[in-house]
Amino acid sequence: MKIYADYAATTPVDTQVIESMMEVYQKHYGNASSIHNIGRDARSILDASRMSIAKLLNVQPKEIIFTSGATESNNLAIKGVAYQNQHKGKHLITTKIEHHSVLHVFQQLEKEGFEVTYLDVDSNGIVQIETLKSALREDTILVSIMFGNNEVGSIQPIDEIASILNNHKAIFHTDGVQTVGHLQLDLKALGVDLFTITAHKFYGPKGVGLLYVKEKTPIQYQQLGGSQETKRRAGTENIPLIKGMQVALELAQKDLDDRNVKMMNLKSELIHRLQEKMIPFEINGDMNQSLSHIINIHFPFSDVEIMLTILDMNGVYVSSGSACTAGSIEPSHVLSAMYGNDIRTKQSIRISLSHLMTNESIDYIVSQIESIYQNAMKEG
Ligand SMILES: *Cc1c(COP(=O)(O)O)cnc(C)c1O
Repeated sequence: MKIYADYAATTPVDTQVIESMMEVYQKHYGNASSIHNIGRDARSILDASRMSIAKLLNVQPKEIIFTSGATESNNLAIKGVAYQNQHKGKHLITTKIEHHSVLHVFQQLEKEGFEVTYLDVDSNGIVQIETLKSALREDTILVSIMFGNNEVGSIQPIDEIASILNNHKAIFHTDGVQTVGHLQLDLKALGVDLFTITAHKFYGPKGVGLLYVKEKTPIQYQQLGGSQETKRRAGTENIPLIKGMQVALELAQKDLDDRNVKMMNLKSELIHRLQEKMIPFEINGDMNQSLSHIINIHFPFSDVEIMLTILDMNGVYVSSGSACTAGSIEPSHVLSAMYGNDIRTKQSIRISLSHLMTNESIDYIVSQIESIYQNAMKEG
């Protein structure tokens, strides 16, 4: 058996998405900047996709910048705001649990003379409002706090944070990657200035995403060249991928409730089966303020590297949540922020689910974890 349960890392592309992209590749190959008929035809696909995505997110079409994915969107949002607003202050705020495409940008900005506050989270992986309030300063120009965490699934109180920042000049960016298809998104109502999305986390293609930039947000555009994306992000638009993202987003929103129910059932099945088999475990984070597809579990009888290797050999594809460099896994910065130096950070794995999975796939995962547990017990 082969069970992929690493959907927070990436998802397979939906067949309907592939078909929509094929049609653009085959029939609408023009450059959207060409003024002849073939170019205008490509432009009309691009415009329609932008309109449809804007509607789904409840924003204006001109507030969307298409990018190559979340890493680019995060870089653009953070550097763009920092550079454009540095005359108003050089203090920036983020959290200790961000994705590396956020954290590494802030670390670079620190080297360039910006001051960065990395907010602590509680043991559930959630930023406390008071922590943010006490970090805010007169010279804070940017706050970047992710919506749903990709390792433990914790959901931050983004609407509450946005309303606090309403009375502050700081611009508010959210990496919303993991929430698409899981939370109902209305970016206007949410009150953020900048919002990052990438298609391959919701059954769309890799290499395409977007940054929502609320009208009049002062930001320095990073990619210079042609006048695509109204001069905010130069480079010929990848219309097949953008079309694919549009269709994937439509499906994700349409089936949101059904998919969430499915994944919540799979999650409780997983917990139930682990308990039934008497496998010792603890859940990292709070089950009640968490995304339906992510569960991070501490197994106190094995080391994460050994566990991932054995699971991989037996066809169970999960993750440690953190990046693995040259075969060695650093303890996750997210779990470290939640639990400090605890051994737990070295004994935890992330299982991320999909509506495509079945109870049988959960049973198989649990049976493999059970045999690791039994072997660990034998070895004493
Ligand atoms: C996957 C992910 C990213 C990076 O997305 P890419 O499109 O692969 O660059 C950024 N943030 C979060 C929270 C993610 O899960």
